[in-house]
Amino acid sequence: MTDFSNGTAFIEDKFVPISEAKISILDWGFLHSDATYDVVHVWKGKFFRLEDHLDRFFASMESLELSVTYSRDEMRSILNDCVKKSDLQNAYVELICTRGQPEKGSRDPRTCTNQFIAFAIPFVWVTKPNTSLNLFISQRQRIPTESLDPAIKNYHWLDLVMGQFEAYGKGCETVALVDKNGNITEGPGFNIFVIKDKVITTAATGVLRGITRKTTLELAKAKGYEVIETDISPESVRNADEVFATSTAGGIMPISTVDNVTIASADVGENGAGPMTQLLQTAYWSLHDDPRYTTKVEY
Ligand code: PLP
Repeated sequence: MTDFSNGTAFIEDKFVPISEAKISILDWGFLHSDATYDVVHVWKGKFFRLEDHLDRFFASMESLELSVTYSRDEMRSILNDCVKKSDLQNAYVELICTRGQPEKGSRDPRTCTNQFIAFAIPFVWVTKPNTSLNLFISQRQRIPTESLDPAIKNYHWLDLVMGQFEAYGKGCETVALVDKNGNITEGPGFNIFVIKDKVITTAATGVLRGITRKTTLELAKAKGYEVIETDISPESVRNADEVFATSTAGGIMPISTVDNVTIASADVGENGAGPMTQLLQTAYWSLHDDPRYTTKVEY
């Protein structure tokens, strides 16, 4: 019997075990990082904010002149079945659209047949649960908005990956890149938030509009916190009361150390989170039981 226990992919119109999902090396998704993707998670048998992820995926495809033959309803059902086949309660679910291959002998992207791929694997964490991150602030510039709008979710990750190597060299776990003015943008797979004197800030531009970022902004506003989307200098991160990262792959994740110096939070919990971060974390996971934000997987 086919073993789907490590995950399931949908590729070339078929469901296959994740280890058997392969694309051609001639697909421009591989050769040129010419692709878009989105990642939604399933927690305790429910998709979290599935419609927001589908909205973003379709918007990214449109911005990149990509299109696929699957409708939104068909995609929803494919994602459901990827999770179902592997019987995953907590899953990391990815949708991908690659440019595909051009007609033989052509370099014209308009001749490519775009490919839709999806997969579900067991949940992946940016950082282990109940731990905090040691962030390195690199001077490396994130690909600028003028080159490629980071609101389009993309695989142009070499700046982020090289930044990770810099961080490891400094004894840190992960990295934040800056924009052309030296302000903080984002890290490999996460947005960054800073809290100072109870005011919450996050970068307004030059970043992916993370769904977890959006959720955090909504939760913070609902709690009556002051929230500002603005430029964030490296100094304001180093002098913050609390710092955290947000991602579908882990939610709200405390950053307790910046450039190997501990952040000055008055009341740090066991997981390295300051008091407001803890409240937001709790609220974030509570939303995973709220039917307004969740879609049950049909197993
Ligand atoms: N920034 C980048 C570059 C990302 O790749 C991601 C997620 O993969 C995020 C931010 C966080 O976005 P989300 O909260 O939608 O997972």
